[in-house]
Amino acid sequence: AAASLEDAQAECGRPEAFAGEDPIVIAENVTKTFDNGVKALDDVTLYVHRGEVKVVIGPSGSGKSTFLRCLNGLEVMDGGRVVIDGIPLDSSRKHRDEIRQEVGMVFQQFNLFPHMTVLENVNLAQRLVRRKSTQEATENAMRLLDKVGISDKASSYPAQLSGGQQQRVAIARALALKPKVMLFDEATSALDPEMIGEVLQVMSALASEGMTMVVVTHEMGFAREVGDAVVFMENGRVVEECRTETFFESPSHPRTREFLSQIL
Ligand code: ADP
Ligand code: MG
Repeated sequence: AAASLEDAQAECGRPEAFAGEDPIVIAENVTKTFDNGVKALDDVTLYVHRGEVKVVIGPSGSGKSTFLRCLNGLEVMDGGRVVIDGIPLDSSRKHRDEIRQEVGMVFQQFNLFPHMTVLENVNLAQRLVRRKSTQEATENAMRLLDKVGISDKASSYPAQLSGGQQQRVAIARALALKPKVMLFDEATSALDPEMIGEVLQVMSALASEGMTMVVVTHEMGFAREVGDAVVFMENGRVVEECRTETFFESPSHPRTREFLSQIL
């Protein structure tokens, strides 16, 4: 077994496909302590390359959601550095706004606006943020709804849709701003089992089109098939990061092995 995170990473290696390229997501030494004293992130470093799918796993409370929220500026970190596609996430309002547009996020709870139709939900940010005309926004929205297989529900309200359908709308809404990176925070955890597949399928399709993705999930089948690398977090730290095949075949850290044995 590897003695340290660095050794573990050296042992399992980086996917060759990304060697030598500059990462599109740089997160270095990120720390976050909440007002109540909880240290949610303790020196987290992660790089994501263009087109890479990084799967983040770990027990509840290990800091996965806080980390994703730090990547798009929803949470303000206390220390460390985040740079997305060359834009530093710093105190500049302009940079924060740019990063919000470049990084799309999908949550466990779909957070659709209940009083708006599916189409209006997908259009809203495009009109407000990208300042598109209604016609332009609608054309783009219909294309995306088609992509997630739900264009026939464009004029329905969220409450008329199943959980899986709502989550696909939420993905279309995130894609509407043409993000360069997509973050998924347990996007299938609130779904009935029979609806998990349709959402994972949309995520897989997105990955195969080359979207850069950071995916927090408990779906190990998805992690194996779609992930390029797996990151295991615990207590606000990255315990192990490894290429997917190696991760599942021979995880180096005892804690990783224990966690996998519980969930697989
Ligand atoms: P995970 O997504 O891995 O379950 P979280 O990032 O949600 O973990 O939480 C990490 C830790 O930070 C937990 O101990 C959680 O209780 C705490 N935490 C998360 N959000 C807040 C908050 N807004 N205020 C205080 N503590 C929080
Ligand atoms: Mg979480």
